[in-house]
Amino acid sequence: MKVTVLVGGVGGARFLIGVREMLGSTPFPPPPDDSGSDAVAEHEITAIVNVGDDAWMHGVRICPDLDTCMYTLGGGIDPERGWGRIDESWHAKEELAAYGADPDWFGLGDRDLATHLIRTQMLDAGYRLSDVTAALCRRWQPGVRLLPATDDRHETHVVVAKPSGAEGERVAIHFQEWWVRHRAQIDTFGFAQVGSDDTTAAPGVTEAIAEADVVLLAPSNPVVSIGAIVSVPGLRAALRNTSAPVVGISPVIDNRPLRGMADECLSVLGVESSAQGIAEHYGPRKGNGILDGWLIADGDHAQVDGMTVGSAPLLMTDPPTTAQMVRAACALVGVPTPEANLR
Ligand code: GDP
Ligand code: CA
Repeated sequence: MKVTVLVGGVGGARFLIGVREMLGSTPFPPPPDDSGSDAVAEHEITAIVNVGDDAWMHGVRICPDLDTCMYTLGGGIDPERGWGRIDESWHAKEELAAYGADPDWFGLGDRDLATHLIRTQMLDAGYRLSDVTAALCRRWQPGVRLLPATDDRHETHVVVAKPSGAEGERVAIHFQEWWVRHRAQIDTFGFAQVGSDDTTAAPGVTEAIAEADVVLLAPSNPVVSIGAIVSVPGLRAALRNTSAPVVGISPVIDNRPLRGMADECLSVLGVESSAQGIAEHYGPRKGNGILDGWLIADGDHAQVDGMTVGSAPLLMTDPPTTAQMVRAACALVGVPTPEANLR
């Protein structure tokens, strides 16, 4: 079985744990042809990861959602925070602050910094982000193919009222600055992807959508995670054209997003933070949208013409519970799943 999942950071990574629980690990990076390894995985899990949050800070390239997926699946995440490394220390951050270096609001941990240093060296040497990600995953063995949505710069920037500017003056800031520094508590007018003029999907991305048995949208932020992925040129068409059913999993329970500020992002677009509002925002593939199925939390409500809606418990408390969510999403569109845990 081939499952392709669009993911952001914390919500996406937890969802991937459920997919891996259901299907077992996909070796990533794949073993070299001459490794003598004859272990052929029966199933294949591919994650297409948001890079809209990526940023340059203190001279290093930071990829928050890729790292959250890699650390979570590889057992290195701080489970309390949900991002960054366990047993983290913050000496480099303190030293940078003592120099008055900007930005001073970003949580740059010492252990985490090593990841960014290696990534930056490899990018400087001309490797693509997808190559760098595979190289970093040699250590972490995530058991999921982690593909950045694009190797090109495709950052989410946010149009806000210019601080201490004249009435009506606006400025675009990086999503991280809006999210981490301002906690989204600032007059906001829209989002824009900033980067290359000819952004294309990373190698393997559109193929993973075209060749999947089912494509899942993790319960990630619909705007700055899933929306930023789908805005990569070619991705929306890939989702609309694949022969695989496409199923979204709702990030809201009781019409409230969990952990995270999806509602702040949705309200900027005038979308209600509800199972109904997000379903309409994604839209049905039978119309102009991207979904065939929409899995919502028990007790929530959604109805959209051309979309099959089902409900299940959607709290990702542990891997088996999350695997049940994945099964429910597949069942919604008639895709059979292996019963036993084959790990
Ligand atoms: P980020 O990049 O770290 O912000 O993470 P994502 O975009 O992948 O996921 C954030 C979203 O995950 C939030 O909007 C939450 O509503 C959603 N989320 C977090 N935990 C859960 C959960 O247990 N169940 C569901 N259904 N959604 C969740
Ligand atoms: Ca993110």
